[in-house]
Amino acid sequence: MLEPASPPRPKRRGLMLVLSSPSGAGKTSISRRVLELEPEVTMSVSVTTRPKRPGERDGIDYHFIDEARFSAMVEAGELLEHALVYGHHYGTPRKAVEEALAAGRDVLFDIDWQGAQQLREAAADDVVGVFILAPSLEALAERLRARAQDSEEVVRYRLARVAADVTHWAEYEYVIINEELDKSVAAVRAILAAERLKRRRQPFLSEFVQRFRTAPGEG
Ligand code: 5GP
Repeated sequence: MLEPASPPRPKRRGLMLVLSSPSGAGKTSISRRVLELEPEVTMSVSVTTRPKRPGERDGIDYHFIDEARFSAMVEAGELLEHALVYGHHYGTPRKAVEEALAAGRDVLFDIDWQGAQQLREAAADDVVGVFILAPSLEALAERLRARAQDSEEVVRYRLARVAADVTHWAEYEYVIINEELDKSVAAVRAILAAERLKRRRQPFLSEFVQRFRTAPGEG
């Protein structure tokens, strides 16, 4: 079959941008802003058995489901990864992610280190991991209390977990210390821009370059 003179450039391969952090580091605000500014990024909406917090919307922040439904999804292989985090189950529905990636879109995941490890096992080449740290332990404690959506007991429990969660920083390609929201958002966007240009994410390149080598009418 003859190729048209200027075939449309095929889509690049979408990437899986994983943002992880100990709670309270500001990851949710960063993700929200990145989603507003990056039209090619889709958020992966997780399922969870955790109770809904005030202001959270079912189907937008999470799909809130019960234990029975969660187990059924695990059994049926409908979750790309899943983990027990702070006493509740969380998981990433496979279908939405696969559809977005197939359409050449990038997918943003707000998941913990256990989920990040499982995604890497399933799709190492597609995963870009970013670990977000609060500027200090004091800032973190303050942020968790200011959020006031959780009881003091939950806040204390989460703070105790930070020490354990933070040890996973070295499993990520990128680490951002979240001092200022705008700067952190710019850093995530810079990571996205560079990762999108990786050779392996532009599978059409060898064919594209070939066109220069067979250009007619030399000189
Ligand atoms: P939160 O309950 O505060 O929304 O989230 C608690 C933790 O669970 C956060 O670290 C968040 O990144 C993580 N998390 C949320 N969804 C998922 C998921 O689908 N899989 C995994 N592994 N972790 C998740």
